[in-house]
Amino acid sequence: MAVDSAISSPLGPPACEKDEKALRFIEEMTRNADAVQERVLADILTQNSRTEYLTRFKLNGAADRESFKSKLPVITYEDLQPEIQRIANGDRSAILSAHPISEFLTSSGTSAGERKLMPTIKQELDRRQLLYSLLMPVMNLYVSGLDKGKGLYFLFVKSETRTPGGLLACPVLTSYYKSEHFKTRPYDPYNVYTSPNEAILCPDSFQSMYTQMLCGLRGRHEVLRVGAVFASGLLRAIRFLQLNWKQLSVDIETGDLNPKITDPSLRECMAKVLKPNPELARFVRQECSKESWEGIITRIWPNTKYLDVIVTGAMAQYIPTLDYYSGGLPKACTMYASSECYFGLNLNPMCKPSEVSYTIMPNMAYFEFMPHDHEPNSSGFTRDSSPKLVDLVDVEVGKEYELVITTYAGLCRYRVGDILRVTGFHNSAPQFHFVRRKNVLLSIDSDKTDEAELQKAVENASQVLREFNTSVVEYTSYADTKTIPGHYVIYWELLVKDAANSPSDDALKQCCLAMEESLNSVYRQGRVADNSIGPLEIRVVKNGTFEELMDYAISRGASINQYKVPRCVNFTPIVELLDSRLVSAHFSPGLPHWNPERRR
Ligand code: AMP
Repeated sequence: MAVDSAISSPLGPPACEKDEKALRFIEEMTRNADAVQERVLADILTQNSRTEYLTRFKLNGAADRESFKSKLPVITYEDLQPEIQRIANGDRSAILSAHPISEFLTSSGTSAGERKLMPTIKQELDRRQLLYSLLMPVMNLYVSGLDKGKGLYFLFVKSETRTPGGLLACPVLTSYYKSEHFKTRPYDPYNVYTSPNEAILCPDSFQSMYTQMLCGLRGRHEVLRVGAVFASGLLRAIRFLQLNWKQLSVDIETGDLNPKITDPSLRECMAKVLKPNPELARFVRQECSKESWEGIITRIWPNTKYLDVIVTGAMAQYIPTLDYYSGGLPKACTMYASSECYFGLNLNPMCKPSEVSYTIMPNMAYFEFMPHDHEPNSSGFTRDSSPKLVDLVDVEVGKEYELVITTYAGLCRYRVGDILRVTGFHNSAPQFHFVRRKNVLLSIDSDKTDEAELQKAVENASQVLREFNTSVVEYTSYADTKTIPGHYVIYWELLVKDAANSPSDDALKQCCLAMEESLNSVYRQGRVADNSIGPLEIRVVKNGTFEELMDYAISRGASINQYKVPRCVNFTPIVELLDSRLVSAHFSPGLPHWNPERRR
């Protein structure tokens, strides 16, 4: 029941007292965005005043915006590499942060082929927790009765490593799920998951997914929302069900857990909940054996009110498939976050995906915005070489910016690489549409492949063709997400100099694998450990196809002088043109090399 309207929040009447507090906090932060930002910057600079980094730039204890902006450079991850390497190697002195670095968070963004390592400090967990605690109070404004059931969320931990100096390195969500904040969270009727902690925390992805699915099927009538972090993760769960429903039904029927689940704590926990239920097993078999899986989510979980998955940015490519499996259920994108920092939340989570805007919470870090002019100037470069950075409350509606952050953990004026467009304001806090991540050409899951990486991969793979006296004349790529998991498709036009010795199918398969070996570690982890990316495919197209591609672009207004072969295509007529000129298709025959240890 909604609390007294006398304490109703401007966002709407809160569902309970706890929500009222959270909504009031959002109001306070967004009303006083500039003052909060000023305080956050002063806190960070004071806290870190004696660090090596701030000392180097002679801040001399100053904590005001002007000194900060005039003395500290805007940087990228590459600029911080030496400091990060020292921390990773065990240097415990106050290099970036006065507080000890508690661990590294491994970003899905890469540097030289390996995940970026983001230093973090203990108190950041509280800040992340705080942002999480705001999500349900906002959702409760739009969807009622979420305390009457559970959420089926597919959540996973990934492998951890230790740096040479002994610090733990793992993805931010793994760090969060393993923290006491998550494991011993107090009971909240609005936030009950079907998945037990043991299933979420099981490091084996098959066992984890299997038991989470089993629990979701068992409690199918209680499930009010179905989610994963990203859309690709939820689709992977659907694919998992397609591949495993027969065995899952056996477990449900007999009450005996699949012997492939070997994790002792998981077996113990499942033994307590798994009871024979032949009727449910019959239902699962009946639904899953139907030829069409259209609407499977609402058929199996009929009380689902919405899907809780991020479908903004690169994940927008999955919207049609999610709609197919869910019968068009609303898709709530609730938050915007990264390993470096959690940024903000969507105050209108039930809106259409194309209208999603995230409100950056001014208490999370100090935020600046680098104007991003995406129109190339006459020399072909974008005009953002030395622009003036704008403060959070000063951004302008309709303009695009690159996000720059200064965090409590010690990142100073750090370019995140995300391009955001201002759509409006909530009080004095701006709201942003996520436009794209800079320099990302291909993405299936959390992998991000840029143009240079693709170029290098093509170069390495084309070595295989040498013995056939063949070279790659042109190439482009496409993220094929029609299958689950999706996969990279690389179109090649070849110059075969000796027709009697043209490359064999086997050689082209080896080219696929050679490309995969050359791609970054997040891609290779997706292939090997997470099974979130399918085998890379090379499609050889007829000679002259890329000339046709150019003709097509010119017919649509491109300039002949400035035409460049697009290294990634997603416009349907272009993909269709390429496919209509197909000579042969070849898939990677094996898995590339990957292990949790970094290569360097
Ligand atoms: P990571 O550092 O691996 O945690 O990745 C963080 C990046 O994921 C962000 O910088 C964004 O590029 C992307 N991301 C996170 N949340 C969203 C969102 N809600 N919508 C679109 N992209 C997102």
